[in-house]
Amino acid sequence: MTATAEKTPVTVAYGDGIGPEIMESVIRILDAAGAPLDYQVVEIGEKAYLSGNTSGIPAEAWDTIRRNKAFLKAPITTPQGGGYKSLNVTIRKSLGLFANVRPTKSYAPYVNSPHTGMDMVIVRENEEDLYAGIEHQQTAEVTQVLKLITRPGSERIIRYAFEYAEAHGRKTVTCMSKDNIMKHTDGLFHKVFDEIAKEYPNIESNHQIIDIGSARVAAMPETFDVIVTLNLYGDIISDIAAQVAGSVGLAGSANIGSTVSMFEAVHGSAPDIAGKDVANPSGLLNGAIQMLVHLGFAEQAEKINNAWLVTLEDGIHTADVFRPGLSEREVGTKAFTDAIIERLGQMPRRLKAAHFQSAEIHVPPVRNTPPKKELEGIDVFLDWADGDRHPDRLGKILEDACPEGWKLKMITNRGVKVYPDGLPETFWTDHWRCRFISPDGSALTFSDVLRLLGALNDASCDVIKTEHLYTFDGERGYSLGQGE
Ligand code: NAD
Repeated sequence: MTATAEKTPVTVAYGDGIGPEIMESVIRILDAAGAPLDYQVVEIGEKAYLSGNTSGIPAEAWDTIRRNKAFLKAPITTPQGGGYKSLNVTIRKSLGLFANVRPTKSYAPYVNSPHTGMDMVIVRENEEDLYAGIEHQQTAEVTQVLKLITRPGSERIIRYAFEYAEAHGRKTVTCMSKDNIMKHTDGLFHKVFDEIAKEYPNIESNHQIIDIGSARVAAMPETFDVIVTLNLYGDIISDIAAQVAGSVGLAGSANIGSTVSMFEAVHGSAPDIAGKDVANPSGLLNGAIQMLVHLGFAEQAEKINNAWLVTLEDGIHTADVFRPGLSEREVGTKAFTDAIIERLGQMPRRLKAAHFQSAEIHVPPVRNTPPKKELEGIDVFLDWADGDRHPDRLGKILEDACPEGWKLKMITNRGVKVYPDGLPETFWTDHWRCRFISPDGSALTFSDVLRLLGALNDASCDVIKTEHLYTFDGERGYSLGQGE
């Protein structure tokens, strides 16, 4: 067997802007630390975009990325305008990179931050939630986005967070959601969290409502260990966390899938400083360290991380981190890289030394036995902007149109009940949710739904959308109207 054959193949993209400089730096450090990697380069990003590929990835790059276990990606410049799609979102969704793992630490007093003890990892769900990108304008006044939260998706990300905590010697996993308001979507995430937490008795678990949770991430980040949360909340709190750590430019990020995983810096391609030998390679280096740990090369990951910490402690800083009085020497990308390589094998004096224990974490998606599903009603959404828009008039139209076997239960506007017995103070848009149910509670069929819709159409109602009201094993699978 040749030396190359013994190495683990990883896909590498040098990216745009500062990408090539920082990737070169990172690969020099990986090689010097003896990471047994075989780099296979793909050309993606600006050049691909500008040659007419709107996704930024040529077909041949997909094969390399899919064949190799890990993908180390330098930042990419997304050209402005012209309908170019975000490469990150394309890669994340196409390859099922379900977990975005962002460790955030403060390196005070060497990097300016008031939070000396901060050392948290945010595990953000990476594929679902409002990022499904399903949006519609339904009336002149109303737009909507679909927030999709699935049980397999929630199980997978939450189990990943606990497995990550175990593998990395973390003690607590905190779930953040807004299930006091979104009882079915965020409620499912919280419920699954409680179920899975029981499988990990050695890890402490707790739940915080996202608003107070975010406030605590900003004000007392040192109290968190691992946080697992939904896509949008994770996006927001990971930026808050990076900002309060005082080190956005130092943070790495891992996008984990069941086969392929992608590792990168949190920052972009910084075209303003490209080619000047001033870029800080630390963000990409921290992404590469996450990759080594993921691949099971914890020893090399520790060696590199500790040498990097010693370099920070020695006050050898790139321009973005350099502070007179705090730093010893301002250096460029190449000299910073040399300084890290010189310190391989050294241990930090004051900052906590890195200690990784992990190997690759496998969390396959789970398919549960489907529950018994019964239809007990339907929400029919209407576009109606007639006259003064009084809901009592709409109620009368619908009561008159309602066919046998159906009963109008209520009408809401922006989720608030306005019929029967609404309040005059409520604001009415042109978007009405009209809830019809079976009068005697018996199960309904889709033919019943078609009959109802036919009757509403005959009454000239402008039906814009419907949602079925199901029970699952007898449990209500839809929310009540506010005031219902
Ligand atoms: P940016 O992160 O590239 O730059 C923001 C600021 O931070 C700039 O002043 C830059 O000089 C500085 N900076 C960033 N990284 C640095 C480093 N390693 N060392 C020193 N200074 C650094 O964000 P932007 O300017 O909004 O975006 C530039 C391009 O990057 C855009 O085309 C954007 O689409 C792309 N982008 C790509 C990714 C990615 O590939 N993952 C992520 C974000 C932005």
